[in-house]
Amino acid sequence: FLMLGPKYTSRKDEIGRLGQTFNDMISHLQEHDRKQKQFVADASHELRTPLTVIESYTSMLKRWGGNDPAIRREALDAVQSETRRLKNLIESLLKLAEFEREEQVKLDETALVPLVQETKEQLEQAFNREIRFTASEVSKHRRLLADAKKIKQLLIIILDNAIKYSREPIDVTLADVSGFAELKIADKGVGISQEDLPHLFERFYRVDQTRNRETGGTGLGLAIAKQIIDLHQGTIRFESEVGEGTTVTILLPWKAQTEQ
Ligand code: ADP
Repeated sequence: FLMLGPKYTSRKDEIGRLGQTFNDMISHLQEHDRKQKQFVADASHELRTPLTVIESYTSMLKRWGGNDPAIRREALDAVQSETRRLKNLIESLLKLAEFEREEQVKLDETALVPLVQETKEQLEQAFNREIRFTASEVSKHRRLLADAKKIKQLLIIILDNAIKYSREPIDVTLADVSGFAELKIADKGVGISQEDLPHLFERFYRVDQTRNRETGGTGLGLAIAKQIIDLHQGTIRFESEVGEGTTVTILLPWKAQTEQ
């Protein structure tokens, strides 16, 4: 017994560990499957809602629209805005699906400052809002290894939220922090509560359904943003205070200098 004991115990441990690993794998797969089903259910619901609204306004238009210009106007406005909503939703879903396919992405040497500058100017024009941008000297000279189109998409998602949920000018700063580009996007808007913060990157998560319906959000923006961050081995962090505002901090690794 003395001879066999330890050996037997360690075998048993090994089998036990193997069993545990197997169980972990199974529950991981089950969790993945559950999330996938939930996603399909949520997506179907989100797609059906605007269609139901369009359908009922179209019926209204057919029945009463001929004689009543006010009804005609109301119905057409609703159909137009719900169609836009549906289009945004489908575009976002297609973007998410693109990441799921995990195709080979091509990362090129990319200067971040002109990309932020260009995005800032486009959004300032589109929304008639001020975005202040300052970049440190170092950050002007370094490059990322990145998919420029996707980084721009990321900037648009974060800046668009800052614009939607605040009224004051937005401050964007770019600095160099130990080998990383540190991008901070700060707004003085409505803020996000501590309970909501951990869920922001979940697909279809919206803090306030009614408020977000007005702002036309889909709840997919930050899920897409997270995919883009992961693709570039970066990190994204939200700090927020209700009624005070939100600061988003993004870290993206610079391309190693020896390679430049
Ligand atoms: P949406 O399309 O609804 O904006 P997102 O995934 O981009 O979806 O964001 C998820 C939710 O996070 C938003 O609905 C909003 O409630 C909250 N949120 C994101 N950014 C901000 C911000 N800068 N200020 C306040 N709330 C924000």
